[in-house]
Amino acid sequence: MSDCLFCKIIAGQIPGAIVYQDDRVVAFKDINAQAPTHVLVVPRRHIATLNDLTPEDDGLVGEMTRRAAAIAKEHGHADRGYRTVFNCNADAGQTVFHIHMHVLGGRRLAWPPG
Ligand code: AMP
Ligand code: ZN
Repeated sequence: MSDCLFCKIIAGQIPGAIVYQDDRVVAFKDINAQAPTHVLVVPRRHIATLNDLTPEDDGLVGEMTRRAAAIAKEHGHADRGYRTVFNCNADAGQTVFHIHMHVLGGRRLAWPPG
């Protein structure tokens, strides 16, 4: 989608600190990190919110989840722990409408979230 920030990062039209990419999934550092590790895992294909997923996307979401776990492990968080988050729409504070899995690690994370 032409006016989507994350589509532009994926396309290389605006800079992103990319830590992983393949033909379906891209991961890059969050520009406003909320933890020592804060990476966003996104599908290359534009999907606005979790509400827009279809059964055909099940494999894609699985790839995103396993990539998030791999990134957390690479950053040394597998044993101590980390958090993955999808925000969906206004009450969750979604600000970029291209689905993304936050991967947060490297500090103690409170629960429940604010
Ligand atoms: P959400 O609130 O779940 O939609 O998360 C959007 C995230 O995108 C926020 O954590 C932002 O800090 C992050 N973000 C916004 N612009 C950029 C950018 N240019 N590069 C990387 N991350 C960004
Ligand atoms: Zn997009």
